[in-house]
Amino acid sequence: MSNWETIIGLEVHAQLSTQSKIFCGCSTRFGDEPNANTCPVCLGLPGALPVLNRRVVELGARAALALGLHINERSVFARKNYFYPDLPKGYQISQYDQPFSANGILEIMTAERDDAGHARDWKPMTVRITRLHLEEDAGKNVHEGLPDVDRYSYIDLNRAGTPLAEIVTEPDFRSSWQAYDYVNHVRRALQWVGASEADMEKGNLRCEANVSVRREGDDKFGTKVELKNLNSVRFMQKAIEFEVERHIKTLEEGGRLVQETRLWDERLSETRPMRSKEEAHDYRYFPEPDLPPLVVTRDLIEEIGASIPELPAPRAKRFTEQYGLSYADASQLTADRALADYYEAAVEASSGNARATTNWIRSELLRELETAGLSADKSPVPAAELGALVKFVDDGAISGKQGKDVLVEMFATGKTAATVIEEKGLVQVSDTGEIDRVIDEVIAANPKQLEQYRGGKETLFGFFVGQVMKASKGKANPKIVNERLKEKLK
Ligand SMILES: [Zn+2]
Repeated sequence: MSNWETIIGLEVHAQLSTQSKIFCGCSTRFGDEPNANTCPVCLGLPGALPVLNRRVVELGARAALALGLHINERSVFARKNYFYPDLPKGYQISQYDQPFSANGILEIMTAERDDAGHARDWKPMTVRITRLHLEEDAGKNVHEGLPDVDRYSYIDLNRAGTPLAEIVTEPDFRSSWQAYDYVNHVRRALQWVGASEADMEKGNLRCEANVSVRREGDDKFGTKVELKNLNSVRFMQKAIEFEVERHIKTLEEGGRLVQETRLWDERLSETRPMRSKEEAHDYRYFPEPDLPPLVVTRDLIEEIGASIPELPAPRAKRFTEQYGLSYADASQLTADRALADYYEAAVEASSGNARATTNWIRSELLRELETAGLSADKSPVPAAELGALVKFVDDGAISGKQGKDVLVEMFATGKTAATVIEEKGLVQVSDTGEIDRVIDEVIAANPKQLEQYRGGKETLFGFFVGQVMKASKGKANPKIVNERLKEKLK
C-alpha cells in the first residue's frame, strides 16, 4: 500500500453582526415570522436599488484585520448569476475579481489528536487565505412543518440580503484536525472583534470543505469532493475523515471518484451525494451596475485598526510567556475575550498567583459557569473575588478543599469570599502561639503516648496530630500543626 496525502481547502461564510441587511434597511433578526423582514430590494422587485450598509464595511474590515489580512482600498461588487427559488433576483450580489481582501497569510496553532480526542504537541502552521469578500445571503427553502409540504415548497426570504463575509483558503490543510483548528481559530477571532457571532449551530457560521487525496509525491491533485451541511466544527472534522477514507478505499480498489457535492449525515455518520443541481456552473459574473466600486480609505482602516483589541492568538502566546501557562491552558483561557479579561483580573487580585488562579478557573469556575450557562463576564463571582479566594487558600487561611465549597457558595449567593468563610466559621488558626498552646495541653494530657513515641514508636505521631486537630475543633492549620508537633515531640 502506498502512502496517501490528504488535501483540504476551506470556505467559511460568516454572517456579519449588523442590525440590518447589506443592501436595504430590513432587520436581520433571527426567528421572526417568515417573510416579515422583506422589502422591494431584498425581494428583488424590478426597479428597486441596493444601497450598501456602511456597518457591513466596518465589520468586514474588523473581520479582515482580526485575521491579519490586508484590505483593498478599492473592491467591486459583482453579480453571480444562477437560478434558485430562494434567490428572487436570479443573481446574488457578491464580489469576484476585485474582492475586499486577498492573498493573506494566517498563522494558527494546530495539533493532531489521539483516539480519545486529546491534542498532543501544538505547533504553528501557516495558512494561505485566498480571499475574503463581502456578499449577500440567499433566502431559505422550507420543506417541513407546513401544510401540503409533499406538494409545495415554501420560501422564507427573511435571510435574503443578510451580510456575509466569505473567507476562502488555498488547499493548505493536510489533515482533518488542521481544518478543525483553523475553523476554530477563525471563529474565535471573528467573535473576539465583534464581527460575527460565528455560531455554527445558529447557522451564522457555515463551512464547506474541498477534499481530495493523492499518492505521496504526486504533484497533481486528485478528484475533489465538496462537503456541505457541516453544522459544527466537529461534524466537519468527522465528515472530512470519512471522505478521506472513502477516497483511499475507492482508489485502492481501482475505482473512480466523481467530482460532486456531498452532505454530512450526522445520524448515519456518513456523507452522501447531494441531488445534483447542475454541475459546472457558469455564473457569468459581471460588475454590479447598481453599485459603485467600494472605496475604503486608509483613514477608515486605521481608525478601525486602532479599535481592534489584542487578538486571541497573540494573547494566548503572551499568557504562556507572562504567566508560564502551557499552550493548552492559554488557549482555553483565551476561548473568548470575557474569559481572558477575567483571568487577568483574577491573577492580579490573587497577588500574581497565576498557576493557582489558572487551576481554580479551569477546574472549578468553568464548570460552574457551564452548568449555569453563563459567560465569564456574567459570573456571580467577580474576578476580584476569585483572586481573593485564591489568596485565602494560598495563605493557608482555609484549605483547598474548603475553598471549593466556598466557591460553590459564592457562586450561588454572590457573597464575597471573606463573608462566606466567616459565615461558615472556616478560618483556619495559623497563629503558632495559639497552636503551641493546644499542643502543650495535648502532650500534658497523654504522658504514656509521649513516652512510647520518644521510645521509638513513631506511628504515634498521627495520634498527636489527631488530638491537636480535635482540640482545635478542626480549625488548626494542619501544615503548622505538623511542623510544631515535630519540634515539640523531640
Ligand atoms: Zn429588504
